[in-house]
Amino acid sequence: MAKKFNQTKLLIASGNSGKVAEIRGLLGDYNVEVVSAKEFDIAEPEETENSFIGNAELKAKYYGDATGLPALADDSGLCVDALGGAPGIYSARWAGVEKNFAKAMQRIEDELGDNDNKKAKFVCALSLYWPEEGVIESFEGKVDGALRFPAAGCGGFGYDPIFVPDGYDRTFSEIEPAAKQRISHRADAFRKLIDGCFT
Ligand code: IMP
Repeated sequence: MAKKFNQTKLLIASGNSGKVAEIRGLLGDYNVEVVSAKEFDIAEPEETENSFIGNAELKAKYYGDATGLPALADDSGLCVDALGGAPGIYSARWAGVEKNFAKAMQRIEDELGDNDNKKAKFVCALSLYWPEEGVIESFEGKVDGALRFPAAGCGGFGYDPIFVPDGYDRTFSEIEPAAKQRISHRADAFRKLIDGCFT
Protein backbone atom coordinates (compact mmCIF):
# COMPACT_ATOMS: atom_id res chain seq x y z
CA MET A 1 0.00 0.00 0.00
CA ALA A 2 1.27 3.47 -0.84
CA LYS A 3 2.36 5.86 1.92
CA LYS A 4 -0.36 8.36 2.85
CA PHE A 5 0.27 12.07 2.67
CA ASN A 6 -0.66 13.65 6.01
CA GLN A 7 1.59 16.70 6.02
CA THR A 8 0.24 20.22 5.60
CA LYS A 9 2.67 21.57 3.00
CA LEU A 10 3.54 20.16 -0.42
CA LEU A 11 6.17 21.53 -2.79
CA ILE A 12 5.47 21.25 -6.51
CA ALA A 13 8.80 20.43 -8.12
CA SER A 14 8.31 22.75 -11.08
CA GLY A 15 8.78 26.42 -11.83
CA ASN A 16 5.79 26.35 -14.21
CA SER A 17 3.08 28.46 -12.58
CA GLY A 18 0.32 26.96 -14.78
CA LYS A 19 1.22 23.48 -13.59
CA VAL A 20 1.31 24.62 -9.94
CA ALA A 21 -2.12 26.28 -10.23
CA GLU A 22 -3.61 23.17 -11.85
CA ILE A 23 -2.24 20.90 -9.10
CA ARG A 24 -3.44 23.31 -6.40
CA GLY A 25 -6.94 22.93 -7.89
CA LEU A 26 -6.71 19.13 -8.08
CA LEU A 27 -5.67 18.90 -4.42
CA GLY A 28 -8.20 21.51 -3.31
CA ASP A 29 -10.24 19.00 -1.26
CA TYR A 30 -7.32 17.63 0.74
CA ASN A 31 -6.32 20.47 3.04
CA VAL A 32 -2.82 20.86 1.62
CA GLU A 33 -0.88 24.09 1.23
CA VAL A 34 0.68 23.82 -2.23
CA VAL A 35 3.89 25.82 -2.73
CA SER A 36 5.86 26.35 -5.91
CA ALA A 37 9.56 25.58 -6.41
CA LYS A 38 9.71 29.15 -7.77
CA GLU A 39 9.47 30.44 -4.20
CA PHE A 40 12.93 28.96 -3.58
CA ASP A 41 16.07 30.03 -5.35
CA ILE A 42 17.02 26.62 -6.72
CA ALA A 43 18.45 25.90 -10.18
CA GLU A 44 16.50 23.34 -12.26
CA PRO A 45 18.01 19.85 -12.35
CA GLU A 46 19.01 18.16 -15.58
CA GLU A 47 16.61 15.34 -16.57
CA THR A 48 19.14 12.56 -17.05
CA GLU A 49 17.02 9.43 -16.54
CA ASN A 50 15.67 7.31 -19.40
CA SER A 51 12.04 6.90 -18.30
CA PHE A 52 9.16 9.19 -17.30
CA ILE A 53 9.11 7.78 -13.77
CA GLY A 54 12.91 8.03 -13.56
CA ASN A 55 12.82 11.74 -14.40
CA ALA A 56 9.80 12.44 -12.14
CA GLU A 57 11.62 10.74 -9.24
CA LEU A 58 14.84 12.63 -9.99
CA LYS A 59 12.98 15.99 -9.84
CA ALA A 60 10.95 15.10 -6.71
CA LYS A 61 14.09 14.01 -4.84
CA TYR A 62 16.13 16.98 -6.01
CA TYR A 63 13.60 19.58 -4.84
CA GLY A 64 12.56 17.63 -1.74
CA ASP A 65 16.15 17.26 -0.53
CA ALA A 66 16.93 20.91 -1.33
CA THR A 67 13.96 22.28 0.66
CA GLY A 68 13.24 19.60 3.27
CA LEU A 69 9.59 19.62 2.12
CA PRO A 70 7.64 16.70 0.68
CA ALA A 71 7.77 17.24 -3.10
CA LEU A 72 5.57 16.24 -6.03
CA ALA A 73 7.06 16.11 -9.54
CA ASP A 74 5.69 15.13 -12.92
CA ASP A 75 7.15 14.15 -16.24
CA SER A 76 5.16 13.60 -19.40
CA GLY A 77 5.34 13.22 -23.13
CA LEU A 78 4.06 11.70 -26.36
CA CYS A 79 5.09 8.16 -27.39
CA VAL A 80 4.60 7.13 -31.02
CA ASP A 81 4.42 3.34 -31.60
CA ALA A 82 5.98 3.31 -35.06
CA LEU A 83 8.88 5.48 -33.83
CA GLY A 84 9.76 3.06 -31.04
CA GLY A 85 8.14 5.32 -28.43
CA ALA A 86 9.82 8.58 -29.56
CA PRO A 87 9.79 11.44 -28.80
CA GLY A 88 8.85 10.05 -25.33
CA ILE A 89 10.96 11.64 -22.58
CA TYR A 90 12.42 13.93 -25.25
CA SER A 91 9.01 15.45 -26.14
CA ALA A 92 9.88 18.92 -24.85
CA ARG A 93 13.42 18.74 -26.24
CA TRP A 94 12.18 17.93 -29.79
CA ALA A 95 10.63 21.41 -29.82
CA GLY A 96 14.01 23.01 -29.07
CA VAL A 97 14.76 25.95 -26.79
CA GLU A 98 12.40 28.04 -28.88
CA LYS A 99 9.55 25.60 -27.93
CA ASN A 100 8.60 25.24 -31.58
CA PHE A 101 5.98 22.48 -31.55
CA ALA A 102 5.08 23.04 -35.22
CA LYS A 103 8.63 21.91 -35.97
CA ALA A 104 8.40 18.96 -33.55
CA MET A 105 5.09 17.81 -35.08
CA GLN A 106 6.56 18.13 -38.56
CA ARG A 107 9.50 15.95 -37.47
CA ILE A 108 7.07 13.25 -36.32
CA GLU A 109 5.19 13.41 -39.63
CA ASP A 110 8.46 13.22 -41.59
CA GLU A 111 9.82 10.30 -39.56
CA LEU A 112 6.53 8.38 -39.94
CA GLY A 113 6.62 8.84 -43.73
CA ASP A 114 3.97 6.59 -45.28
CA ASN A 115 3.79 4.24 -42.28
CA ASP A 116 0.11 3.44 -41.69
CA ASN A 117 0.62 2.72 -37.99
CA LYS A 118 -0.34 6.03 -36.42
CA LYS A 119 -0.90 4.69 -32.90
CA ALA A 120 0.39 6.90 -30.08
CA LYS A 121 -0.13 7.63 -26.41
CA PHE A 122 0.48 10.43 -23.97
CA VAL A 123 2.10 9.33 -20.71
CA CYS A 124 2.35 11.19 -17.39
CA ALA A 125 4.41 10.07 -14.38
CA LEU A 126 3.90 11.57 -10.93
CA SER A 127 6.30 11.05 -8.03
CA LEU A 128 5.71 12.09 -4.43
CA TYR A 129 8.79 12.15 -2.20
CA TRP A 130 9.14 12.52 1.59
CA PRO A 131 12.73 13.71 2.25
CA GLU A 132 12.75 12.94 5.99
CA GLU A 133 12.01 9.26 5.48
CA GLY A 134 13.51 9.01 1.98
CA VAL A 135 10.26 7.39 0.79
CA ILE A 136 8.98 7.88 -2.76
CA GLU A 137 5.69 6.80 -4.39
CA SER A 138 5.26 6.93 -8.18
CA PHE A 139 2.25 6.56 -10.47
CA GLU A 140 1.89 6.50 -14.25
CA GLY A 141 -1.14 7.50 -16.30
CA LYS A 142 -1.76 7.31 -20.03
CA VAL A 143 -4.23 8.04 -22.78
CA ASP A 144 -4.18 5.97 -25.98
CA GLY A 145 -4.95 7.42 -29.38
CA ALA A 146 -3.70 7.96 -32.91
CA LEU A 147 -1.91 10.72 -34.76
CA ARG A 148 -3.63 12.67 -37.53
CA PHE A 149 -2.03 15.08 -39.98
CA PRO A 150 -2.28 17.93 -40.77
CA ALA A 151 -2.42 19.44 -37.27
CA ALA A 152 -5.90 20.71 -36.35
CA GLY A 153 -7.39 22.92 -33.65
CA CYS A 154 -6.08 25.80 -31.60
CA GLY A 155 -6.74 24.71 -28.00
CA GLY A 156 -4.34 22.96 -25.66
CA PHE A 157 -0.58 22.96 -26.13
CA GLY A 158 2.39 20.93 -27.30
CA TYR A 159 1.40 17.97 -29.48
CA ASP A 160 -2.38 18.35 -28.90
CA PRO A 161 -3.15 19.39 -32.53
CA ILE A 162 -2.08 15.98 -33.95
CA PHE A 163 -3.41 13.63 -31.23
CA VAL A 164 -6.87 12.04 -31.52
CA PRO A 165 -7.74 10.13 -28.32
CA ASP A 166 -9.40 6.73 -28.75
CA GLY A 167 -13.21 7.05 -28.86
CA TYR A 168 -13.07 10.60 -30.31
CA ASP A 169 -12.86 11.89 -33.85
CA ARG A 170 -11.27 15.23 -33.02
CA THR A 171 -7.82 16.15 -31.78
CA PHE A 172 -7.01 17.17 -28.21
CA SER A 173 -6.79 20.73 -29.57
CA GLU A 174 -10.33 20.57 -30.92
CA ILE A 175 -12.19 18.96 -28.02
CA GLU A 176 -13.41 21.01 -25.05
CA PRO A 177 -10.71 21.59 -22.40
CA ALA A 178 -12.94 20.01 -19.73
CA ALA A 179 -13.20 16.79 -21.78
CA LYS A 180 -9.44 16.69 -22.24
CA GLN A 181 -8.93 17.22 -18.51
CA ARG A 182 -11.21 14.24 -17.78
CA ILE A 183 -9.53 11.73 -20.08
CA SER A 184 -5.92 12.92 -20.20
CA HIS A 185 -2.80 11.04 -19.11
CA ARG A 186 -2.37 13.66 -16.37
CA ALA A 187 -5.92 13.06 -15.05
CA ASP A 188 -5.27 9.29 -15.08
CA ALA A 189 -2.00 9.69 -13.13
CA PHE A 190 -3.65 12.09 -10.66
CA ARG A 191 -6.52 9.68 -9.99
CA LYS A 192 -3.92 7.03 -9.13
CA LEU A 193 -1.96 9.45 -6.90
CA ILE A 194 -5.11 10.56 -5.04
CA ASP A 195 -6.28 6.94 -4.58
CA GLY A 196 -2.82 5.88 -3.41
CA CYS A 197 -1.68 8.75 -1.19
CA PHE A 198 -4.57 11.11 -0.41
CA THR A 199 -7.62 8.91 0.37
P1 IMP B 1 7.58 18.05 -19.15
O1 IMP B 1 6.94 19.35 -18.74
O2 IMP B 1 9.04 17.98 -18.96
O3 IMP B 1 6.86 16.87 -18.59
O4 IMP B 1 7.45 17.99 -20.74
C1 IMP B 1 6.33 17.46 -21.29
C2 IMP B 1 6.31 17.70 -22.80
O5 IMP B 1 5.46 16.68 -23.33
C3 IMP B 1 5.63 19.00 -23.15
O6 IMP B 1 6.54 20.01 -23.47
C4 IMP B 1 4.81 18.63 -24.37
O7 IMP B 1 5.65 18.66 -25.46
C5 IMP B 1 4.48 17.18 -24.17
N1 IMP B 1 3.15 17.03 -23.52
C6 IMP B 1 2.93 16.59 -22.26
N2 IMP B 1 1.61 16.60 -21.99
C7 IMP B 1 1.01 17.06 -23.10
C8 IMP B 1 -0.37 17.30 -23.41
O8 IMP B 1 -1.32 17.12 -22.64
N3 IMP B 1 -0.60 17.78 -24.65
C9 IMP B 1 0.39 18.03 -25.55
N4 IMP B 1 1.67 17.83 -25.31
C10 IMP B 1 1.99 17.34 -24.08
